[in-house]
Amino acid sequence: MGTIKLSREALIHNFDIIAHQVGGKDKIAVVLKDNAYGHGAVMIAHSAAQYGIKQAVVRLEREADEVAEFFDNVLILGDYPTKLNPTYSYVINSIEAIERFARGSRVELKIDTGMHRNGIVLSELEEAFKRINQAGLVCVGVMSHLRASDTLSSEWFWQRRNFDEIKAKASVLAQSYGWRLRFHLSNSGGAFRSSACEDDIVRVGIALYGCLEMEHTLPQPDLKPVLSLWGDRVATRALKKGERVGYNGIYEAISDEVVSTYDLGYANGLDRLASNRYTTPEGIALRGRISMDNAAFATDKDELLIFNNANDYARSVGTIGYEILACLDKDLKREWVN
Ligand SMILES: *Cc1c(COP(=O)(O)O)cnc(C)c1O
Repeated sequence: MGTIKLSREALIHNFDIIAHQVGGKDKIAVVLKDNAYGHGAVMIAHSAAQYGIKQAVVRLEREADEVAEFFDNVLILGDYPTKLNPTYSYVINSIEAIERFARGSRVELKIDTGMHRNGIVLSELEEAFKRINQAGLVCVGVMSHLRASDTLSSEWFWQRRNFDEIKAKASVLAQSYGWRLRFHLSNSGGAFRSSACEDDIVRVGIALYGCLEMEHTLPQPDLKPVLSLWGDRVATRALKKGERVGYNGIYEAISDEVVSTYDLGYANGLDRLASNRYTTPEGIALRGRISMDNAAFATDKDELLIFNNANDYARSVGTIGYEILACLDKDLKREWVN
């Protein structure tokens, strides 16, 4: 099976840029959901902790269990508590959800400041706080999420303004319940939209992994991709002109050429839509259909770099780097290379 190689040098380079941008390491919460965007949650958690990061974000409680030892607090975006853990906090994504949390749980209230996905609407704040208190929960944060942080439009500005209003209201209300709240709005794109971070933390995912792409009119930070995907050669064929490769023979050799199969396919996250149209960073063409566990390339190299920037691969199939990374097989071998 293919291999994922991770660059610690790139990771630290990215951390340095992000920390400088947001005003220090203490403001960074590393987003480790979905196996740290395919990088390997425990490997990234370990390195983040070594760098001095104290906060993490995941989606599920069982993901939190995997990385809890490395952090002071783990925020769980989309799950309900099965135990009381003083270092976990759980996002409340709707007002009806409040009754599903066990008494004593630490929660953070998500506000819909304009994305219209999860969270309570602005006018529900007082009611939500009342219900959280009645349910015996401890509110430790108020948060929201940006819907267009990477594009130049007015959206970032009005979500920011809505959140600032909520911050002011929530701070006053929290005093009457005796809660100490933290506030956070920005993801990676948001962190690079203004020179000062006005919140307590930013939740950084894609920038950390070096694949943040801001719209061309916005400043583009000089980040480095952390992950590269490699294949090992399985077999080599010398094709004669006119011979065809793989399922349904969709690639036909236009002259004599050498092709080899490599040990990863769509079951490992190599999106099948790249069949017959992708070219590696070294200029080596993918030949024919990607199959479940194999893909053919026009080379006989023993070890082949498939991609070193998920955004490039994503472009060839019409999607985004996030999806390519998040779909990388959990069972792929992962190793640090520097
Ligand atoms: C995934 C996620 C993030 C991280 O977003 P990036 O664009 O990768 O930085 C932040 N906040 C929430 C709520 C998320 O779901």
